[in-house]
Amino acid sequence: MLILMHPNATSEDVDRVADRVKELGYVPHKMPGAQRVAVAVTGNAGPVDPAAFTMLPGVVEALRISKPWKLASRETHPHDTQVSLPGPGGTPSRIGGGVFGIIAGPCAVESREQTVGCAKSVVAAGARFLRGGAYKPRTSPYSFQGLKLEGLKILAEARAATGLPVTTEVVDPAHVAEIAEYADILQIGTRNAQNFALLEAVAKAGKPVLLKRGMSSTIEEFLMAAEYIIKGGNYQVILCERGIRTFEPMTRNTVDLGSIPLIKRLSHLPIVVDPSHSTGDALSVPAVARAALAVGADGIMVDVHPDPARALCDGPQSLRPEQFADLMGTLRKMADVLGVTID
Ligand code: PEP
Ligand code: MN
Repeated sequence: MLILMHPNATSEDVDRVADRVKELGYVPHKMPGAQRVAVAVTGNAGPVDPAAFTMLPGVVEALRISKPWKLASRETHPHDTQVSLPGPGGTPSRIGGGVFGIIAGPCAVESREQTVGCAKSVVAAGARFLRGGAYKPRTSPYSFQGLKLEGLKILAEARAATGLPVTTEVVDPAHVAEIAEYADILQIGTRNAQNFALLEAVAKAGKPVLLKRGMSSTIEEFLMAAEYIIKGGNYQVILCERGIRTFEPMTRNTVDLGSIPLIKRLSHLPIVVDPSHSTGDALSVPAVARAALAVGADGIMVDVHPDPARALCDGPQSLRPEQFADLMGTLRKMADVLGVTID
């Protein structure tokens, strides 16, 4: 249920509504809007009687929320959520709310030289966020598993050198505190997209979360995973479409671009596309990145490596820095035509 307050409702009116929600054994979520405050209700097993609230001072309406992802839905939160962090040159790095955010960097942190060098080249080309895996969830236990703590320290050095806020993957609830010390955005990978203990743990870390779509997740399951994080108290969630598993083996995954306009309608959360992990093919990355902008996504997350042939992880899908710079030039021209901002 969503309880809409009058624009002139006082904070006492809002508190009274929240107290009433608690008295009934449910959980209130105060949601300040541009015009007025709304209070979303969760924790109810069945329908809630609107009359419990409509009689209270300052309440305009109590509406049933039809979607099970209550807090992630646009019904509860009509305006776009934007994630904004301090970025290069003291200007904010933003994703969502009309801003197409660019996240780029190596799939994995391999060395100081590789990651700091890559960060310098992507920031020069216009990236606003740095990506890089320190804990790598690999299909094979024999593949490079990441530099772990050493990798996190290198990412923090790369941030210091460029100003780029950093996103890196968390694979274990036990690592959340350590990773939150070094990273700006906590990333949940496709393999953990429905690891609910991990979702609950990152929700409490006080940092934005980049949530990848599970490779077998439906859109509803994807939004319900986001709901775990918001329910845990964290509205700063960036969704990421990274391709799903279908019958087609020739593309690494099947990138579901049609999900973007639908998710934008259903949810207020920003959604970015990962053209690298979805295609697995550097030659396809620029086209899918352009398509992401055209279809209304809020950004892209692109693998860039100074020497893809020698990459320890995902070289075949990694752009060289100059290819990334070319892509940025095209995206900026497209953004002008589409009326989208690229910071
Ligand atoms: C990644 O972005 O580093 C990654 C492992 O991606 P995914 O979880 O989408 O496979
Ligand atoms: Mn990868």
